[in-house]
Amino acid sequence: MSIVENYKKILTSIPDTVKLVVVTKTQSIDNIMQVYSAGGRFFGENKVQELLSKQPQLPDDIEWHLIGHLQTNKVKYIAPFISFIHSIDSLKLLKEVNKQAQKSNRVIYCLLQVYIAKEDTKFGLDFEEAEHLLASEDLKELTNITIAGLMGMATNTNDRQQIAGEFQSLNRFFEKLKSITSHNIHFTTLSMGMSSDYLIAIENGSNLIRVGSSIFGERKFNP
Ligand SMILES: *Cc1c(COP(=O)(O)O)cnc(C)c1O
Repeated sequence: MSIVENYKKILTSIPDTVKLVVVTKTQSIDNIMQVYSAGGRFFGENKVQELLSKQPQLPDDIEWHLIGHLQTNKVKYIAPFISFIHSIDSLKLLKEVNKQAQKSNRVIYCLLQVYIAKEDTKFGLDFEEAEHLLASEDLKELTNITIAGLMGMATNTNDRQQIAGEFQSLNRFFEKLKSITSHNIHFTTLSMGMSSDYLIAIENGSNLIRVGSSIFGERKFNP
């Protein structure tokens, strides 16, 4: 099947309430434009450098999502255009995002990346650290960010029960945090699920999936 066929097939297989973010890492501008021409407007990259080289070559009405680890010193490069950052893992990073967003007179949606996998290679906060961050007094002063929810990645395993259990635990945490009311905390987005596990993620409460290889085919290298 073609890229466009894959994209449309996934769109029709998920509820309208679930947002499909197309993960374009390692993909050419031409491949990305195929999805754009089919109506795709939500795109995700995991590396700042790659995002910065592609963004100017693509249409302005794309909503860009940074889904990979973000270093504080790189925030300034993406703040003028990024819509969502899925990988917030410290208050320090959040403060920098706020500062740079302010310079561009923008509000950036931020998701806390929470560690749910039984692997120690993944970045993120544990539940306690996430709650601690949300309770921070310093957060109140940040006017140019909105904490819009959580992002998590399940263990890379064939054990569907384990994957479902990890997604469930993040969903329960998300539901609990929804009750927080603050000017810059509005829990609306639960980012869980990629090519191998997005259906399990949706069954367990995800409303944003990040899909690359099921649309474009297997990547030649996996960064
Ligand atoms: C690469 C990547 C994805 C998409 O992975 P696929 O298996 O190609 O769908 C999703 N989320 C993050 C954080 C990624 O780095």
